[in-house]
Amino acid sequence: MDRKGEPSVIIREAEKDHVNFMLQEVDLAMANSLRRTMLAEVPTLSIDLVEIEVNTSVLADEFLSHRLGLIPLDSQGIENLLYSRDCACDNYCVKCSVALELTAKCDTDSTMNVYASDLYRLNATSTLGKPVIRDPQGRGPLICKLRRHQELRLTCIAKKGIAKEHAKWSPCAAVGFEYDPWNKLKHTDYWYEVDANEEWPKSENCRWEEAPDPEAKFDYNAKPSKFYFDVETVGNLPPKDVVIESIKTLQTKLASIAIELNKESVEGSNAQAGGFTTYARNDYGGNTPSGDAGYGGAGNYGGDSFGDRSWN
Ligand SMILES: [Zn+2]
Repeated sequence: MDRKGEPSVIIREAEKDHVNFMLQEVDLAMANSLRRTMLAEVPTLSIDLVEIEVNTSVLADEFLSHRLGLIPLDSQGIENLLYSRDCACDNYCVKCSVALELTAKCDTDSTMNVYASDLYRLNATSTLGKPVIRDPQGRGPLICKLRRHQELRLTCIAKKGIAKEHAKWSPCAAVGFEYDPWNKLKHTDYWYEVDANEEWPKSENCRWEEAPDPEAKFDYNAKPSKFYFDVETVGNLPPKDVVIESIKTLQTKLASIAIELNKESVEGSNAQAGGFTTYARNDYGGNTPSGDAGYGGAGNYGGDSFGDRSWN
C-alpha cells in the first residue's frame, strides 16, 4: 500500500522513560502542537493540598508542601478520576482525589531521612497515586530530614491536573524537537567566524536526510515535513501514553471548536430564515460571509479594529 502523503511515525528508540521518534508528512504547526500538548496538557496526578497536623522539622509548612507537590505519582488510570472542579463534592472525595498519609518521628540521635516511599496511600485499589520510585534502594525522592524529637504528621490530597496550571503536573521532563537538520530552509541563522559549516557540529538527525546540494537554487516554497522528537518522561506515565494522550487532547480541543462553529452557523441560518437580521454577530466578524465583508476582510478581526476597542 502506498502511504505517501499520509502522516507516519518511525520509532527510533523506546525505553521505559524515553522515546525517540520521527513524525512525517504533517506540517510544522501540527508537529509543534503535539510538542506543546505533550509538555503542558496531558493530565496527571500530583499532590495539590497538604493538611499538616504536626511539623516540627526545620522546613516551613509551605516549603514542605512544595516538595511534596513535585513528587511524581503513578498516573496510569487517571482517566477514571474526575477533575475536582467538575466533581459534585464540596472540596474533594475519592472520585476526584487520592489521599496519602505521612507519619514520621525521629527517636534516635542520628538523622532520620523521610522519603517518598514513606507516603502511605489510603483506600488504595489500583497503582494510581503510588509515588514513582526508581532508585535501587526503593526509597524514592528525599522529602525531609529529621533530628531527635522532630516529627511530621500530615495528609496529602493528590488531584488531577495539567502542567498549564502548574509544572508539577507535567508528564515530561523534556521534549527534544528538531526539523530540517541541514538548515536547508534557512530558518536558523548560525553565528560564525569564518565558515558556519566548519564551526557548528552536525545534528545526529542529519543521517536521516539527504545533504543539501551546494549548487542547488534556494527553494522558496519548500516546507519541512520530517520532525524529530525526543520525549523524556518523569515516570508517572509511560512515554507511549504521553504521546497518545496528547493526540487525544488535541483531537478533543479541535472537536470542541468544530462543535461551537457548527452551533454558530446553525443559529445564523435559523435567524435568517425567521426574518431576523444578524447584525450583532456580523459586527464581530462572525463566520457569516457578510460579517467579514463589513469590516473589510478577515484581517481586521483579530488585529487592529478589535484590539483597539478592547484596550481603549
Ligand atoms: Zn470529588
